[in-house]
Amino acid sequence: MSAGAHKQHERRPEVGAAYDAVIVGAGFAGMYMLHRLRGLGLTARVYEAGHGVGGTWYWNRYPGARCDVESMQYSFSFSEELDQQWDWSEKYAPQPEILAYANHIADRFDLRQHITFDTRVIAASFDETAKCWRIETDRGDEIAAKFCIMAIGCLSAPNHPHFKGREDFRGSTYHTGEWPHEGVDFTGLRVGVIGTGSSAIQSIPVIAQQALGLTVFQRTATYSVPAWNEKLTPEYRNAVKADYPALRAKARGRPTGFYFPFNMKPALEASAEERERQYEAAWQRGGLPFLGAFGDLLFEKAANDTIAEFARNKIRGIVRDPATAELLCPDNVFGCKRLCVDTGYFETYNLPHVRLVDVSKTPIERFTADGIEVDGSEYPLDAIVCATGFAAMTGSFDRIRITGRNGLTLAEKWRAGPRAYLGVGSAGFPNLFTITGPGSPSVLASMIQAIEQHVDWMADCMAHMRDIGAATIEPIQTYEDEWIEHVNEVSKISLRSTCSSWYVGANIAGRPRVFMPYIGGFPIYVQKCNEVMSNGFEGFVIEGANAGNEAPLVRLTERWRVPLDMDVISPAALAARRVPVV
Ligand code: FAD
Ligand code: NAP
Repeated sequence: MSAGAHKQHERRPEVGAAYDAVIVGAGFAGMYMLHRLRGLGLTARVYEAGHGVGGTWYWNRYPGARCDVESMQYSFSFSEELDQQWDWSEKYAPQPEILAYANHIADRFDLRQHITFDTRVIAASFDETAKCWRIETDRGDEIAAKFCIMAIGCLSAPNHPHFKGREDFRGSTYHTGEWPHEGVDFTGLRVGVIGTGSSAIQSIPVIAQQALGLTVFQRTATYSVPAWNEKLTPEYRNAVKADYPALRAKARGRPTGFYFPFNMKPALEASAEERERQYEAAWQRGGLPFLGAFGDLLFEKAANDTIAEFARNKIRGIVRDPATAELLCPDNVFGCKRLCVDTGYFETYNLPHVRLVDVSKTPIERFTADGIEVDGSEYPLDAIVCATGFAAMTGSFDRIRITGRNGLTLAEKWRAGPRAYLGVGSAGFPNLFTITGPGSPSVLASMIQAIEQHVDWMADCMAHMRDIGAATIEPIQTYEDEWIEHVNEVSKISLRSTCSSWYVGANIAGRPRVFMPYIGGFPIYVQKCNEVMSNGFEGFVIEGANAGNEAPLVRLTERWRVPLDMDVISPAALAARRVPVV
């Protein structure tokens, strides 16, 4: 059965019910929000478009899918018991194991009874008289909730570029983000993969093992660092678990929200030999921490050139055919687009049945009945895999008609780019919370940590509103504007803002170019959120309270009050706003 194509069970729509909160999405964000709200004694209904929990890990079942933040950190940190009891099998767990973990969360915290699956929220409107959100779904549900919480994911709206003749192709077409649940057997087939981002780089080596022939259509060459994935031994797991809280705390103090050794020395202050040694050592450790080889790599183009050339030389050393190797060598800023982490990606091009087609100058012209046509040549194919990514950050918002005060829709408000205060809410949309929303660290941090911090802060906010009997909370326009200005300003300091990536919406035609996540570093952002809360939700207007708004109880936010890791976030780096991220 295809992704999302589960037979929907007949059910009567829920009409007229009222909850404290409606949560849209049952990935890690939606599930953790539900858990927290239940803990506070608040009622909630979750709607999930998929047939099960897990979000990203429910939908992205393509061969080779796995996380690229180490599993012992890419996992929830809110339950010490859970941390102690769950055993990850590999350094980077494969998708089925992460999905099993998501299901374990749902069962362990008794969440399923509050989740309605196979149901997509299509509209959410703020009722100014009743001061509640009215929610409509594609299954006819119509419910009301005081709070509307968007847990709809930053990378959850697949990007289907328009290819001429798509319907003419007689073979099967797949998208990595909507992979069939029963899997795909490529044995004996000629397969085409469009794209060379993280999803392609993970799936290409695995598809190549099965396929009769594999043709990769590359528009932009990609930097990728080896994962050196391995099985975790009980000794290793036990060593981490012996002081798990310390690791979690160290991770929270890091710009990335996960921990790894970071060398803050600027590359430009090292000799050529020292740089080579350092890059080689970091390459041998592998993964995203490669970008932590020096402190200035994403700030100084000349420094970045040195790591870029090192990575290109690695490609030249792996790929035997010089012309293919050159085609695979990126010429843009290293780490500007999201860095990829692979297992045998470049090596795959040494296989006789794998070829690379450059579509950078002559784009894919059309799908034909028998394959793909580029620059007048037809490449015969039996199956096409679109590893073409997502309408990132705001794509899932675009699919819901969200209407705030005075009939203003979020789509209208965000036409020139998303506008949200701290990424948690947007002026004109009272009681609407956006987990890992644009303007927050989100995709630039280990996302489960980013999710937990947002949820804890939002849950404390909702509990505080209950404590003081408040009806609504809403960002104040001037604070929102200042925050966005800050988000933009900080982004310009990083080389990351200079290329056409999904961070700036450049992968989708017609989108405004805005650097959407907050690149100032996770702990600095967390400090700002904590400060806002301590100051009685500074920058928000709270209406209808029958008690004072001073000193909210920081029930959950407390665990995010960690000292900044000064090895990485030095006062000088802070002053210059050059806080390194990966
Ligand atoms: P999601 O997991 O995207 O869940 C959102 C859910 O909302 C989905 O299930 C969707 O069906 C549902 N939804 C959306 N709109 C509606 C609607 N209108 N009505 C009802 N339901 C709706 N991050 C990392 O930090 N480390 C990694 O290693 C990593 N690996 C990744 C690998 C892949 C292949 C991808 C695509 C992303 C990866 N990410 C990684 C990012 C990943 O998205 C997050 O880590 C995290 O899983 C996001 O959880 P979420 O709950 O916020 O969103
Ligand atoms: P992506 O990084 O956006 O890559 C999409 C690829 O498709 C790019 O190579 C893009 O080329 C290409 N493409 C898009 N439209 C095309 C067209 N019309 N013609 C030819 N090529 C086209 O998407 P993704 O690989 O799914 O990854 C998205 C994000 O999800 C990642 O950056 C990461 O954050 C997360 N992710 C993580 C992992 C992991 O390792 N844990 C795995 C998968 C995804 P251009 O570059 O030229 O646009």
